[in-house]
Amino acid sequence: MTSQRTRERLISRLQEQGVSNEQVLDVIRNTPRHIFLDEALSHRAYEDSSLPIGYGQTLSQPYIVARMTELLVGAAAKLDRVLEIGTGSGYQTVILAQLVKSLYSVERIRPLQEKARERIKLLGLRNVLLRHADGGFGWPEQGPYDAILSAAAPRSVPESLKQQLAPNGVLVIPVGGEQQELQLVMRDGDSDKFVTRVIEPVKFVPLLSGTTR
Ligand code: SAH
Repeated sequence: MTSQRTRERLISRLQEQGVSNEQVLDVIRNTPRHIFLDEALSHRAYEDSSLPIGYGQTLSQPYIVARMTELLVGAAAKLDRVLEIGTGSGYQTVILAQLVKSLYSVERIRPLQEKARERIKLLGLRNVLLRHADGGFGWPEQGPYDAILSAAAPRSVPESLKQQLAPNGVLVIPVGGEQQELQLVMRDGDSDKFVTRVIEPVKFVPLLSGTTR
């Protein structure tokens, strides 16, 4: 299940689907995905599918984690301060944390955040800061950010996330309701102008407001 061969097969699948950033592929290859799932599901960890993590939430499909990470890494001018909305299991969090200097991640469901915190500690990552809050407002106290990634879909891009982008900062975010698309939003220099690129159709859980204990 956790064998090197199983992981290599996942990497080949990602490459076939067009993921080509070697740094991103290496991090995915070397990050155990099974520890982010309950034991009953961990044998499916290296399949290229999204999987339930409780509370009606899902661990994102490896392809989408790879794609979003590749987009973010490729488009950002630097990766000193990066914000993630929707920590969930913490899988995307640890992938990003290995590619950036400081990672900030916000989650609205407390028990998910606590489990993610244990896994991040287990992997020995020391550049991650977690916060229990409604990520629709970002995390203004730690910003501005070189890049922001959202793992939950709002109906439209929250103004507060755009405002927390540093000059030339980039936001990778699924947007929409039943029909969603992955968007790459870039701040134009230090101006208040933003350029949006639509990447591909996606299916994410909705960005919900408020927090739960
Ligand atoms: N990358 C995560 C994805 C988890 S699903 C993983 O692979 O495990 C998306 C997560 O976003 C869920 O945990 C959900 O609780 C969280 N979420 C939804 N709306 C949110 C909000 N407003 N603020 C913070 N987190 C939010």
